[in-house]
Parts: sequence; structure tokens; C-alpha cells
Amino acid sequence: MKLLHCDVCVVGSGIAGISAALAAREAGVHVVLVSLGTLGSGASFSGTTWGLGMVGPLSDSTEDKEAFVQGILAPAGDVATSEMAEVLANRFYESLAIFECWGAVLEPAEKGQETHRSYVPCFDTETRGWFGFHAGPSRDPLVRKLLDSGVECFSAAQALSLLKDPGSRALSGLVASCEGEPVAVVCPCVVLATGGMAALRKPTLSSGQCRGVGASMAADAGAQVANLEFEQLMVGIKTSGAPAVFNEKLWRYTRLEKDGQDVFQLAGIGAREAKAALEAHSWHGPYTSQRPSRKVEEAIWAVGGSCDAIIERPEGELPHFIATYMDWLQEAHGLGFGDKLPIAVYHQASNGGIVIDPKTCQTQVEGLFAAGECAPLFAIDRLGGIASSQAMVFGQLAGIEGAAYAKRRPLAPGAPTGQLQLVSCPDEQASTLKNLDASELKCKPEQWRAYHQAHGEALLEACIQRRVASGKEPGPILCP
Ligand SMILES: Cc1cc2nc3c(=O)[nH]c(=O)nc-3n(C[C@H](O)[C@H](O)[C@H](O)COP(=O)(O)OP(=O)(O)OC[C@H]3O[C@@H](n4cnc5c(N)ncnc54)[C@H](O)[C@@H]3O)c2cc1C
Repeated sequence: MKLLHCDVCVVGSGIAGISAALAAREAGVHVVLVSLGTLGSGASFSGTTWGLGMVGPLSDSTEDKEAFVQGILAPAGDVATSEMAEVLANRFYESLAIFECWGAVLEPAEKGQETHRSYVPCFDTETRGWFGFHAGPSRDPLVRKLLDSGVECFSAAQALSLLKDPGSRALSGLVASCEGEPVAVVCPCVVLATGGMAALRKPTLSSGQCRGVGASMAADAGAQVANLEFEQLMVGIKTSGAPAVFNEKLWRYTRLEKDGQDVFQLAGIGAREAKAALEAHSWHGPYTSQRPSRKVEEAIWAVGGSCDAIIERPEGELPHFIATYMDWLQEAHGLGFGDKLPIAVYHQASNGGIVIDPKTCQTQVEGLFAAGECAPLFAIDRLGGIASSQAMVFGQLAGIEGAAYAKRRPLAPGAPTGQLQLVSCPDEQASTLKNLDASELKCKPEQWRAYHQAHGEALLEACIQRRVASGKEPGPILCP
């Protein structure tokens, strides 16, 4: 088996993984990055929309940061992690400057508070700082930065299992399959940045690589996962390729039809209620069971889960954000105003995942860190635009803290070489690895994939059954 030694091993190369790897490298340690997709992949770079709106406080002032934290906590219900919101607010602008310096292409909202406001997406009533992350143009510079910095990168590399020393129980690295070849990365610190779990459900708007492997690996190692039932559902447009996001700001101009008939009428929803639901939905993209806008998705489900959306062009000059989205939709999919857009409700992103210490990103397992959508800021309804922000902020933090941890607790030179335990293994009998011998790896990568998938599904299932709102009744389940 190919054997690599490093200080920090990062799993994933979305915004969180790239940020963790570069931050750890800049802290002066040797970093290996393994990514299932190409370098620059996952939901961060999936191409299902024009880019990602990244939201933070309006400015770096204490007042704006406090207001931002309150803006996050308000829709998030009592499951929000206020400490994470505070760290996000406090580190946002510093992280943004670093991210840009590394090569991320960010488009600020046009000048003025009002313009910022017109971009800010979901569940928010205040003006925030808005920055458009252009995934396509950002990928090459960020990947170049990874390679130039000396991060040892492996794409088409599937992380299979964490490794533990059965004697000391210390984390000892991980095993991956890199283009079919087994590789053991021996290190004191692993950062999981594997994205969310939305692709465990169908249909999904997220990248197919987001199958909850991080949650599965972390839970296997003894870390806590939480609030997995809070998953974002969002309307998307079916295309011949990957589905496209339906931009929420268009709802107020949209008519829904099924075989030429009004969808709301078919669903028994009156015209006034339908108009109110569309107007309310223009304020946020994801489905929420807590607001009148839910009638939109409920009407779609009532007619079988899919229908046509026809967007009428509003009069006058188009707001910049709508124009950007419609230009992208035309260019990427040949679709525009007046067309019949086939839409459905998709699983989009996770609001729950691995529990981390907000100040260090460490899980409850020594040496195991996590960041991004696999370890999100827990919420019922998540303020729009903070998923990418938290991937950037906590990705950087995980890299810095992971590097510091690795410096404090380096693995002894050459160690460990004897018997290592595969923390996750489809075959329990084969979970000990002697002298990192590849022939001891009895299971194929596909078996690991199936193992993590089944584990992720079981976590989701168990989570939904366990959670209760009042202690007696099942809590809000966001899936129909
Ligand atoms: C359609 C859509 C629109 C969105 N719009 C917005 C928006 O406007 N604003 C916003 O803030 N957020 C938005 N989000 C959410 C946001 O995109 C994600 O939360 C964020 O990009 C997650 O970044 P990440 O780095 O944590 O994970 P990802 O970008 O998903 O990266 C995960 C990485 O892990 C790798 N990986 C997975 N499993 C393994 C494995 N076993 N071994 C090795 N590598 C593995 C993948 O290959 C990938 O590189 C949107 C999401 C979707 C799907």
C-alpha cells in the first residue's frame, strides 16, 4: 500500500476543504488533501446555479456583527448554535480577505446598503454584506494555489476509513482509494470537509459526492452528529443534465401549471392564498414548514411532485441579481422568461451534521476536526448565504487549529506501523490492518461506499424518529 506521512490530512476539496488545506499549509505543516471529486468539487463547485451568494455582517463593526448573529438565530429555532454564529460573524471579513487573496473570485453587491439588501436571500429582514462566489472562475486559481503551496493533492481519491491505534486509541490517519490504489495517510490530525448529506435523498440538487461520508466516519469514530433531520429542500428546474436552482426572487412573477391547468387550483388552494404564498416565497429559496410560503411546495407535491413554472418578465429594468440569474439560465440551459420550466422539489443541503467545538472545529474525537456542510451551524431554517460563509470561515479555522494540534501532538517518527484499526469497515472481521499491508484491505471501495451510504441513511432515519418537539409528538419533519 502506498504510504504517506503528513501532519494534517484534509478530506474534500469544496470551499471548506480547500480553505482548511491552505490555512494548515500557511501555518507551516505538511498537508495531504484527498478529494473524491476533481480538485474544486462538491456543492461548492457543482454548477447547478450561477454561483453562491455568500452572506456575512454588513460590516466588521460590533453592532453589525451582533445584528448578524441575531439574524441567524431568529429563523434557526432552538437548535441553533449561537457560539458558531458568533465565530462566523467575528471571523467573516478576515476570512473573506484571505479567501480572495488565495484566488476566490468574489463579486460584492453593487454600492450602497439598498443594493446589498436586494441580494440578501433567505429568512432575513435586515441588510447584510453580500458577496457572490463565482465557482467556475474561482476553481483554477484556488487549485493552482493549493498546488503551488505544496499541499499534496489527490483527486479521484475516496476516503474509506479513519485509522486508529487500538492501543492508545489515538487517531492515526486514514485509508483512501486513489484511482483504485489503496493509500494510507498516517497523521495525527484529519479534517473532514466532505460536504453535506443531501445526495442521500432523491431527487437532489446537490453534488452526488455529498453522501454523508463525513458524518458516517465521524460517528464511527465516536463523534456526535446532530439535527440531521433539518435538511433544506428547494425547488429546482429539471434539465437534460444536472438540475438547476430555481431563483426565489422569481416566485412573484411565476405561474404554476400542470398539463395546462393551474396547480394551486388543482391543489385546492385559492387564488389569494396562492398569490400570498408566491410573494412570501420570493423572500427565501428553501421550503419551510413554518411559513405561508409552504403552500407553493405543498401544491407541487399535491399534483405529483412536479409541474411547469412559467416566469413572466417583470416590467422595467431587471434587478441586477435577477438579470445575472436569467442570463446564466439562458446560457447554461437555453431557458428564459415565458418558457415552460419543468420544476420539482429537490433535496439541497444539510442543516445538521457533525458536532464541533466552535472555537477549534475539533470533534469529540481527539485529532478529528470537521468543517463546512458536514459540520454546519445547526438550524431549522438557515439564513440564506451562510452555508458557503461557514464553509470558508470554519474551513480556515479547522486548518489553523488542525495544524496547531499536529504541532502539539506529532506522531512519533515512523509510527505507527504495527496494527492499526480501520474505524469504519464493511467487514468487522477485517477491520485490523497489519503493517499497513494492502492485502489486508479485504473490502473494495464500492463496499465502503455502500457502507457509508447505509450508515448515513441509518443516521438520518434514526434522527428523524428520535427527535420530538414536545417530548410526545414527532417534531417538524421537513420531507413530505
Ligand atoms: C444548488 C445549491 C445552491 C446553493 N446555493 C447557496 C448559496 O447561494 N449560498 C450559500 O451560502 N450556500 C449555498 N449552497 C450550499 C453550499 O453550496 C454548501 O453548503 C457549501 O458549498 C458546502 O461546502 P463544503 O466545502 O462543506 O462541501 P462541498 O463543496 O460539498 O465539498 C465536499 C467535498 O468532499 C469531497 N468528498 C465527499 N466524500 C468524499 C470521500 N469519501 N472521500 C474524499 N472526498 C470526499 C467531494 O468530492 C467534495 O470535494 C447551495 C447548495 C446547492 C446544492
